Amino acid sequence: MSRAVRIHQLGGPEVLSWDEVDIPAPGVGQVALRQTAVGLNFIDVYQRSGLYPLGELPQVLGMEAAGVVESVGEGVDGFAPGDRVAYAMVLGAYAEHRLVDAEKLLKLPDSVSDESAAAVLLQGMTARYLLKGSFPVKSGDTILLMAAAGGVGLILSQWARDLGATVIGCVGSEEKAELARRNGCAHTINYREENVAARVHELTDGEGVAVSYDSVGAATLEASLDSLRPTGTLVSFGNASGPITNLNLGLLAQKGSLYVQRPTLATYIRTRELLQACADDLFDVLGSGLVHAHIGQRYRLEQAADAHRDLEARRTTGSTILVP
Ligand code: NDP
Repeated sequence: MSRAVRIHQLGGPEVLSWDEVDIPAPGVGQVALRQTAVGLNFIDVYQRSGLYPLGELPQVLGMEAAGVVESVGEGVDGFAPGDRVAYAMVLGAYAEHRLVDAEKLLKLPDSVSDESAAAVLLQGMTARYLLKGSFPVKSGDTILLMAAAGGVGLILSQWARDLGATVIGCVGSEEKAELARRNGCAHTINYREENVAARVHELTDGEGVAVSYDSVGAATLEASLDSLRPTGTLVSFGNASGPITNLNLGLLAQKGSLYVQRPTLATYIRTRELLQACADDLFDVLGSGLVHAHIGQRYRLEQAADAHRDLEARRTTGSTILVP
């Protein structure tokens, strides 16, 4: 018998339930894990609330964790008991033990701890595809980043600075502004108090930015579009303040022939080759110290509801770990 955080109905943090669950022996192509660190991500909130479809209930929540291989099923090559591994974008992570398809598992290099992997695998692979896939950032680009002191934000800003970009980060408090500046942002804007587009134009001599990486969604759509240079790109990759449901394409013409992408990590890691290449690139920048994991808070796994409350109330910084 093992424990996991499940939901039996959609709703607020109170629907998270610390349940006993059965873990069967691994089937063909599966690996049995003892998990050592679980990552908290905003997608967990969207799935808990019903914004993103979850399928049948009850369901163990969570999309990312690190751990140790306990046993492997038939047909599994390349993994053996004792291996340190991690995964992202595989539902069912809020658990002490679980089964995962070997195809989704990544071996961890010695330079990346279990906690770092669980903290930044999903957010770091996201930063990687945003910077290298969605809008390939070049040295000399000035870029805008919403929620710059969050999980994705702190990784993306460190990595973008290393690519030679000037990062303007939007944050919700002075404490978060300082953290963002220590992690790659050349400038910060408190978007609860300041006019974002006006400040961006001041900072870019009236030109605007090449790209806005915007995970806040509805509340910052206009600020993002108004901050772009002519033919600039909005990469809208999240909905922390609510989804964008009414974008009039004519606005993109009026505001300077703009581009918009609404990407998801799942597309960028859809094959084993893409997943491994994305993770290897992330492990390289973690291993060399160019990017470091900032674990802002830790909770016991059974206290996942408190972690959800803090994430939704904008009380967290960087990445968050749930400890089984
Ligand atoms: P964060 O750690 O960034 O937490 C969210 C942050 O968003 C908050 O700390 C807060 O920072 C800011 N925010 C602004 N408005 C709100 C609001 N109304 N409610 C809550 N938060 C708000 O989370 P993650 O790093 O896990 O994820 C960041 C975003 O990226 C999420 O929107 C997530 O869905 C998205 N994402 C998308 C992926 C994709 O492939 N499309 C993959 C991974 C993440 P502040 O106080 O500074 O405003």
